[in-house]
Formats: sequence, C-alpha cells, structure tokens
Amino acid sequence: MSERKTNQTLSGTSLGPKKQSRASLSFEDMPVFTKWEMPSEPAPVKEAAKAASQKGGAAKKKTNNQNAGQKGASGKKGQGKNKPGQKTQKAQKGKGKGNAPVAEKQKAERPKPTGQPAQKKQTGAKKQPVKQTLQNNTIPSISTNFSPKKGGKKGKKNPPIRIIPLGGLNEIGKNLTVYECQDDIFLVDCGLAFPDETMLGVDLVIPDFSYLVQNKEKIRGVVITHGHEDHIGSLTYLLKQIDLPVYGTKLTIGLVEGKLKEAGLLGRVKTHVVTPGDRVKLGCMEVEFVRVNHSIPDAVAIVTHAPCGTVVQTGDFKIDYTPIGGGVIDLARFGELGSRGVLLLLSDSTNAERPGSTTTERKVGQSFDNLFKTAEDKRIIIATFSSNIQRIQQICDAAVKFGRCVAISGRSMENVTGIARELGYLHVPEGLIVPMEELSRFRPSETVIITTGSQGEPMSALSRMSMGSHRQVTVGKGDFIIISATPIPGNEKLVSRVVNELLRSGADVIYESMYDVHVSGHACQEELKLMMELVRPKYFMPVHGEFKHLKRHADLARSLGIPDENIIISEIGRVLETDGTYLKNEQTVPAGRVLVDGLGVGDVGSVVLRDRKLLSEDGLVIIVVTVDSLTGEVLSGPDVVSRGFVYMRESEEVVEEFRNLTLKVLDSVKDRRHKDWNDVKVRIKEAVSSCVYRRMKRSPMILPIVMEV
Ligand SMILES: [Zn+2]
Ligand SMILES: [Zn+2]
Repeated sequence: MSERKTNQTLSGTSLGPKKQSRASLSFEDMPVFTKWEMPSEPAPVKEAAKAASQKGGAAKKKTNNQNAGQKGASGKKGQGKNKPGQKTQKAQKGKGKGNAPVAEKQKAERPKPTGQPAQKKQTGAKKQPVKQTLQNNTIPSISTNFSPKKGGKKGKKNPPIRIIPLGGLNEIGKNLTVYECQDDIFLVDCGLAFPDETMLGVDLVIPDFSYLVQNKEKIRGVVITHGHEDHIGSLTYLLKQIDLPVYGTKLTIGLVEGKLKEAGLLGRVKTHVVTPGDRVKLGCMEVEFVRVNHSIPDAVAIVTHAPCGTVVQTGDFKIDYTPIGGGVIDLARFGELGSRGVLLLLSDSTNAERPGSTTTERKVGQSFDNLFKTAEDKRIIIATFSSNIQRIQQICDAAVKFGRCVAISGRSMENVTGIARELGYLHVPEGLIVPMEELSRFRPSETVIITTGSQGEPMSALSRMSMGSHRQVTVGKGDFIIISATPIPGNEKLVSRVVNELLRSGADVIYESMYDVHVSGHACQEELKLMMELVRPKYFMPVHGEFKHLKRHADLARSLGIPDENIIISEIGRVLETDGTYLKNEQTVPAGRVLVDGLGVGDVGSVVLRDRKLLSEDGLVIIVVTVDSLTGEVLSGPDVVSRGFVYMRESEEVVEEFRNLTLKVLDSVKDRRHKDWNDVKVRIKEAVSSCVYRRMKRSPMILPIVMEV
C-alpha cells in the first residue's frame, strides 16, 4: 500500500510523469512508471575485488541437476567446471587487495537478495578516505562462472549463438526473440502491440517477419513464455506464413489454441504442452523451461543450452513467495544455472524504475475480504485483466466466503475464465458462476460481477456500464465498484473518464491507489538484482521495455558489478553474436512493425498513416468539375464537397471563392491546344490551398477531380 500511495502523492507534484503514448487497449498488467525515482543504488564500481570468490557456492551446487545439464547439446564438456584461470582478468582489475576477504565472505553467503544493507552499514561508518576505499570495495559484485567451452575436437571453438530481438525492445509489446546457432533457429514468444495515437485506425501492431520468412527452412519451433497478448498475440499471423510447432505450458497452450481456433489453424499447427523442468531439443540447441511468477499462471523462463554456453531469458517475471495457485519461481534452478556458468541473461525490464519488491498477489485477496465486508449490502462489480486468473480466483474465493454468486461480463473475460476452468487453473465450486442473464434472480447484495474494462477501453463492459449502454447492468447507488488494475501509461484519461461516470451514477468506486486492490506482475529492482545475482551472467541484455526501462535495468546491472562492456542495450533487428570469447552486436536484419487494420496486414504504411493524420486534423475538400476534353469548356460544376473541414451550409462565401478560383485556373488553360490535366489539378489545389490558409490558417487535404468528357 505504501508503495502505491507514494506514487500517488508524487504524481501530484510538478515532477509527475507526462504520459504521452496512448494505447486504448491493454494486454496485461503494466507498471506504474515513476520517472522521478532517481537511482538509489551506489555508483558503478567495477574495481571491487573479485578474486577467488567462486569455489564455495559453485562446488556445493554441482550435484543435483548436473547430469541433466550435460545431456543434449554437444560440446558440454567443462560447463560446470570452475577453471582457476577464468577469473584472472577481473581479479587483475581489482585494486583493493586488502579487502578481498570481505568480498569473499559475501560471496560465500550467496544467494542473497541484494548487497544494499551491507553497503548502507558502510556508508554510515564512513569518515575517512581510507574507509571510502573500503566502502567501494565491499559493494557486492557479480562475477560470472561462465568460461568459454572447448569444442568437441581439440582446440576447436564452438559455433557462436546469434540472438536477434525482433520486438520488445524500446517498446512495450510484440515480444519476439530469435535464437540462431549454425543452421538452426528457434523463436521465443510471438506477441503483438497495441497502436499508439499516431496509428489512426490501426487495430494491432505485429513484428516484421521477413527475416523469419527468409530463413523459414531453419526454424525448428516457437517456445512461449506465457499467455499474454504481447507474447502470443501475433503467433497466428506467423503460423499462417510458416508452419512451426509451438511449445508452452498447459495454460499457455490452451490460450494459444483458442487463437488458433479463431484463425482456423487448429489441427494444422502442432502444439506441445511442457511442464517446468522439461527440455526440448531444437536442432543443435536445447531449451529448458523454468518456472517463474507472473500475473498469469504457468509462466516460464526459457533457458537455452547451446554448444557455446547457456542463455537465460527470464520472460515476464516477478518473485512471489506466496503465489495464488502454481508454484513459487524456481530460484534454486536459476542459482544452479548461475553456479554452472551462464553466458548471457535477458531479463524483464518493465519495472526496472521501481525500487523495492513487488507485493505478493495474496495481499490483494486480503483487500478483497475487507472490501467485501464494507460492501455488505451492495452489488459488487470488479474490473480486472482477463488474463489475471490468480486475481479472478481470489475474487471467487471472496465470493464464496461472503455467500455471493459470480457473473462474468466481457468476451475476453469469458474466454479466458472458460479455458482456465477447463484446464484446472481456476477452481470454483459448482453453481458459483452464473450466466449474466440469470443475475436478476438474485438480490444485488448476493452477487459479484467480474468484468473487463479496467483500462477504460471504450468498448469494454465496464465502460458501457458507466455510459448506461450495457445490456444487462445498470449502475447506480447500490453498486460497489472495484477497479483492480493500474492504468497502463497513456490510459489514465480513459480510466478517469470511466471513474467519473461511475461516480456520477452514485456508485462507490475503489480504484488505483485507494486500497491494495492491485499488484504488478513484473519484478521491481530488488527482484531484478536477485535474478542477476543468481544467474551471474557473463553478458547482460535488458529486454521487455522502453529505452528508459532498459537503461535503468542496465544501471542496476552495472551497480552489481557487471562490467559496462558486457551490458548490451540493443534494439530490434540487431544481431548479438557470441561464442563466449567475443561479442559482436553490429549486424542487423530486417525488423520493424507491421500494422494490422481489419483483415489487412501490412497494407497500411507510412503514406496511408500520413493521409489519415492529415484528414483527422483539418479534414478534406473535394472539388469536382466536368470539362469538355477538346475545348476545355466547363460542362458542370465546379462542385465543392467537404468532410471535417467546415460546415458547408454556413460557409457559402468560402465555397463560392473555391469555385471562382477553380474557374480561373480552368480559364487560363482554355486557349491551350494541348491540355495537361494533371497540371491543371495541381494548380487548382495550390490556388485553393493558399486561399484556405490565408483566410483560416488551416491545411485540409484538397482533392481536385477533373472529369473530361
Ligand atoms: Zn506478461
Ligand atoms: Zn510481456
């Protein structure tokens, strides 16, 4: 609670974020961005003593999964070994020789959430320059256990791995990452983004698949981290072009199959259900699924075991020690991977600006209990993300406790809850959920409605309720409404419009920061640091975020001692290539966004968008005139038609002037024997446009049509 309260207080100050981007739809739980929260961690320190710090932790962890870790990919020799020589480079950097034991002690205590407390202590004690040095050197720093592997044959190097993000960097949405090694490719996720306000009329944005189409012979499959739209939303568009098997956990595949069905691809696409811990061989690489927590059940991280080393991609994650359903994130496995040596970590940057840790989902359940008590004699309506099954579970649990039945409103909410119930992710007693139509059989105080529209989306159920245009629900004094979500940046206005309307109707409305009715699905700084400390990658690449998030995540990595040159803030289409001994990040492949409007995929480009923008700003003026093609004599018109420009009936004078200008142009070419009608059109356009600008300072789109007969 305190965390969100702080945000609210701060957002009232002049430092509050100016949010410009606007997505009218939502795909998942997004963070509250707090730009003004400045770095709280210490300045980057690269010189911390790192020598001889690995032995303890690594040796201990080498038992369990070692065999599993060695299976599959070739050239695994030496993966788990700690070579005495591997730390020399970093050790040489260390300048505070005298402090090595301190650093070593801290390493021995791994895994450990963060080094902050230790650092604070030191800060407090700081008095003399000598201690200053001590302080710097005791900041914990990650030193990787990774060492380049030798190939099968003596001295031969392993083939490099190439990692190409085709979406999800410098944007929130359309996540898609390509893994490539020798002649094998597989993909992690295939999501969509929602359009911003510049993409007029566009429904969805998907990644540019041209690199994948060019290399389709090499692609062995798609692995999915979880079932949010920004991770599965463009899958059907890809599968229509390339036939690929899809791998994911049970719920994820359930949601994917729902999409395949809609697209008429069910049965044609091979889907494979995996469970956390499973491994799948995709060409010369092997992927492993590791459980994480997120705002949808069954989310996993993807670990790629390639000949040259291990790559960990967290997917969207947070650390929830008391999740609702499912298990706790498999921190032990991440630690194990880290102690064996990880080449590269790609980690979720969504909440990299937020300090601390994400509150457990369970907290929301407690708030629901309290609110249900408060709203004893009222109908309760709760809006949340349809994919947040844990949240829906908690609402159902509260309903059972307080003797209410539950109705589900909104198509996506019905879809997802249907799939979740069928697959056993949503547990509700028989008879708890009733159809919307049957709600009237119950007293309002015996019901709960779960609905979509937590982002104020204009067509959503909640929005329609607020406007009084919902078929079954009329909101009024007897309603207690909870918006169990935070507005995604850009959606604040939409949400507050809905809140205003609901309040106007007399209902009680609980939203945003008022109670703990929502927690984020993404890791905050302390969780991100823990992940880095466990995995201890040689290279680090922040993903899943706008530039500011990637940058803050990179700063965090630096503060933990990952050297600057090993942190890569990349962009879509940029190829990261490494075999463990070198890192290249210069080459690019085609990447970008493809706009989907109705059934058209990619037919709306920048030219169309520019026209739509122009039309939306100053409207359109059409001048139609029919002329004799030989004599140039005006046979009919000129007629002036406009849309979105001025109300024509009250602008006779302007219309008359347009007509005269057109006639003047036509008159000037009357005597020419050869008439270039294109030139005539351009001249009409110029004459009218300068007249409009002179009179009204506007620039509508002007479309002269000269018909010759
Ligand atoms: Zn997600
Ligand atoms: Zn996501």
